[in-house]
Formats: sequence, structure tokens, C-alpha cells
Amino acid sequence: MSLSVVPTIKERLNIVDVLSSYITVEGSGKNFKAKCPFHNEKTPSFYISPERNSYYCFGCGAKGDIFSFVEHFEGTDFLGALKILASRAGVPLTDTNSSRESRDEMERLYDCMEEATKYFQSELLKNPEARLYLMDRGVNDESIENFRIGYVPNSWRSASDHLLKKRFTKIEIENVGLIKTKEDSFYDRFRGRIMFPISDSSGRVIAFSGRIFGRPDEEEAKYLNSPDTKLFNKSNVLFGIDRAKNAIRTRGYSIIVEGQLDLVLSHQAGFTNTVATSGTALADAVNTADSRVNNLGLLRRLSPNIIFAFDGDNAGVRACGRGAMIALGLDMQVKVALLPTGEDPADIIKKDSENWKNIIKNSVNIITFYLSRINDETTDLRTRGRKVREVIFPYLSMIKSSIELDAYIQEIAKVTGINQKAINDDFQDFLKVHTPRLEVKEVVNQVKKDEAVPRKIILLKRLFGIYNWKKENKEIYNLVDKFSKSINEVFGDNYFEDMYSDHKDEADSLSFEVEMWYGGKIDTLSKDVVELLLNTEEELIKERLVIISSKINSSPDSLPKDLIKEYQILTQKMEYIKNSRLK
Ligand SMILES: [Zn+2]
Repeated sequence: MSLSVVPTIKERLNIVDVLSSYITVEGSGKNFKAKCPFHNEKTPSFYISPERNSYYCFGCGAKGDIFSFVEHFEGTDFLGALKILASRAGVPLTDTNSSRESRDEMERLYDCMEEATKYFQSELLKNPEARLYLMDRGVNDESIENFRIGYVPNSWRSASDHLLKKRFTKIEIENVGLIKTKEDSFYDRFRGRIMFPISDSSGRVIAFSGRIFGRPDEEEAKYLNSPDTKLFNKSNVLFGIDRAKNAIRTRGYSIIVEGQLDLVLSHQAGFTNTVATSGTALADAVNTADSRVNNLGLLRRLSPNIIFAFDGDNAGVRACGRGAMIALGLDMQVKVALLPTGEDPADIIKKDSENWKNIIKNSVNIITFYLSRINDETTDLRTRGRKVREVIFPYLSMIKSSIELDAYIQEIAKVTGINQKAINDDFQDFLKVHTPRLEVKEVVNQVKKDEAVPRKIILLKRLFGIYNWKKENKEIYNLVDKFSKSINEVFGDNYFEDMYSDHKDEADSLSFEVEMWYGGKIDTLSKDVVELLLNTEEELIKERLVIISSKINSSPDSLPKDLIKEYQILTQKMEYIKNSRLK
């Protein structure tokens, strides 16, 4: 894939337009801002500069151009972003048939999957029984085409023969998971199956899910998925995300179903904001090496509202559990669609898609959902109490907001008839004893940790940015100079200089930030710097005071005189800072 299209794409696409299709952008003229999609914030600190064709977040430091934005937001790689943006800009990417040999390894693997997809599609056209089966399940021709559903004949080497003929190597076909090798022989992994391609968010086919069809030995698994490959990590993919992402954003919620047919029929019924998971996959690897490349993370960036629509049987309920817990921990609003027991979304939609609309409309908060299940199961208060503890408390323990928690505990009391105080006490005990779902908490904490930048760092970076940018300005220079002296007095010689050199590498981007922030208007600059210096000093002193008081507390017998003296000086300084603000 030729990279020479990159400048053309950048020229054709306006950064504000591209980003606006993912996030809500405010402002006009020179600078635009938004709430950052890469960290949690209430007031916007994410700036977009059309002039520079770039964005910058003051809160978490995310920065870059349209390519890095799409990569980061969609959790895809550079080529994935290139594909998305090229199609948006109407720039054709080099034909897949041109100089296949010269293309790099990953591109060839993607090509191999693309070729396999085409092959399976053409085989479906030759197999009326398979098409009849799909029709019987309610899938129409348009969906077959949109979702690129195919068929692979029940033979040992039909797909691999085709791909070898197209000059893919045996190793490549093995690397995309389409063949299995046995001793020095090999055979197709998928045989006699209806093939559902699984794509990444940019629409590249990365795996298949095959449903058994037209073969006698029904002892094999009904559904077979591709193994993990260089292209596919099964814990990291939501089926249908490439087709659902825009609708999730514009409709403001996502629906999660389990199976391929559930997904296809949901879209067919107009719920284009639906994605599918293979149950266990949803919650795994919410936080991978690149913490934002994950399925729930992507859904949350698109919309914080999520509806789980899993089969009404116990397995379905269990399957939504862990994902729902993590979603709650990430402050998402989690609802559950109430499906009749034993029916999956595909059955329901096939019978009556209006009914599906009602089911989605009537979905309920997940806690409410479990409460009504418990109530249906038993009328005995003691059993209800035990079930609340077993089933609901693990979810409650993920909720951070005490207001929300309180409301839930009230609801539990009201619905079950158990005394509210008893539930509350019980829950407090539960929290003490259980580190519930440790792995779930870890994932949530990791995501949050990635997003939180200490205030001190934010302030310092902004300060250093201004200083780099305007140190030739006498007024700014004097202010910072005065500050550095005051800081060094407390923390030791060169403290300021050391901090400053810690951020030396970022010098350029830091001054770029403030330049963007202020544009040409620097009339408030000195005033802002004064405020910034006070805040920074306050943060630094606060931090130091915490250390000192813990030291003092840990040596109660002999109070260290020098520490106490320092403590006094610092509290005086804090007082001074407060007073300076009042002026
Ligand atoms: Zn940010």
C-alpha cells in the first residue's frame, strides 16, 4: 500500500470534520475544543488546530494528526486508519493485485483474508442449500452481501487450493489460520461451513466464524472461530464494529448480542448500533499493551450507554456478567434487554422485528434486572438476602458514586422487602471481606490509571511550555525566575532546574500547546502565569506536607525538630499563597 497517498488524504480532509465525526467539537475560527475521548474529563481540554492539522490534549497529552486520532480512537493500526481515511477522502488505495510480492508481510496476510472472503462468497452463490438455510433463518440477500457471508465446501483443501492458486504461500495461509498442518500434510480448518467474516474497525477481514453446514459428521462444534493469529486476537474484537461504530455514536448507545446471526438480524431490523461478542471475549483484554486498543474501551469512547441482549437462559446471563461489571466500573450505564428464556435475538427478530424494538426499548438497568430475577426465584427473605449478596453485591462493588450506590441499596430494600440498614451493613461487610472479582478491578484500575495525570504534572507542563515559548518576554522571565528561587528555597538548590530539564524532550510540543492555547492573544498571559505559579507552588507544597506529616506521625516519641520547622514554614507559605489569591 503506497504511503504516498497520505499527504493527499491530509489535504482533502479537514481535521475538524474528521474529529467531529467521532466526538462533539465546540468552537469556531482558529481553534476548536472538545472533551477528550482519551481520558475522562468534564471540561474540555482537548484542542484542535485546523491550521496545524493537529490536535492536542492538555489533560492527558494525547496529540497528533487525523491518522493518529483514528488509530487511537478506533484501536486500529496505521494501515487500518489509512483505509478508513482514504475511503472517506475518496482516495483509492493501490490495487491489491499490483506487485503482490513487494507488499509487506502484514499486508499480504490481509490480502489473503480478503481473497478467502471473496472465494467463500462465490461458493455461497453456487450452493442453494446454504442460501436456503440462511433465508430460513431470516437473513435476506442484502444482509448476505453487506456482511459478506460465504460458504466453504466440505472438502479437505478447497480454500487452500484456491489461495495457493492465487499465489499465497502455504505459510501465509497457515498464518491467517485457514489451514491446519499435520505432520508434513495440511488441510483446511474450515470445511462444510457457512462463513461469517470478522472485520476490524476499519473493515479489514481478520478472522472467520464458521457455522457447520452440509456435512454428515455433526459431532464437530456448531460454530468454529479462527484461532488467534497476527491479525486476530479473539479477546480484542467485537464482531460488526466496523458497521456499527457510527450508529453507536449517533444513537448514543450500543447493543451487545452473542452470535453472528443475532448480529446480522439486528442490523437487518434497523439496529445498526449492534455488535456481537463470543461471550467470553468481551471483557478480556479490555486493557492490552496499548490500553486503548480494546473493545469495551472503544464502545465507551463511542457512547457510555450499553445494552446487553444475551439469551435469557442462565448461560447467557452469566456470559454478560463480567463484561457488565467492567462496564459499570468504567462508569458506563449498563442495561439488560429482557429476552424470553430459550430464545435468542435472531429467533425473536425473525418472528417479529417490532417485538425486538419493544424488548430493546424496555431494557432495564442491570441491578434492577437481577433483582427481579431474585424475586421471581424465591419469596423467602433470608434466601433473597443471600442471593443479593451473591449476585448483586459484586456489581455494586464496581460502582464508585456513593449517590448511585445509595439509590441502588434503597431499590434493593424496596423490591426485596429486606431492611435497608441490614443491606447496607451487609454490603459494608462484603466490601471488607471480598476483593470481588479481583481481575475485573485490576482492569478497571489500569484503565483509570492510564487516564489520570496528576495535577502537578499538568501545571508544570503548561508552565514550562509558556516559559519555553516566551522566555524572551521580560515580564514572564522575571515571574518564573522569582518562582524558581522560591521553590529552590524550599526544596533545595536546582530543584526547579532539575524539574525543567526532566521535560526538556517535550520542550517543543509544550510550547506548541500554549501557542495553540493562546493563539495570537497574549493579553492575559502574565496574569495566567501568576495564577499558574501559585497553583504549582501550592501543589508542590501540598505534596511535601503529606510526606513530612507522615514522617512526623511515624516517629511520635522524638519529634524531629527540623521537620517540624519545615512543616511550619510550608504552612506559612500555603497561607501566603491563599492570601495572594485574595488580592
Ligand atoms: Zn486527554
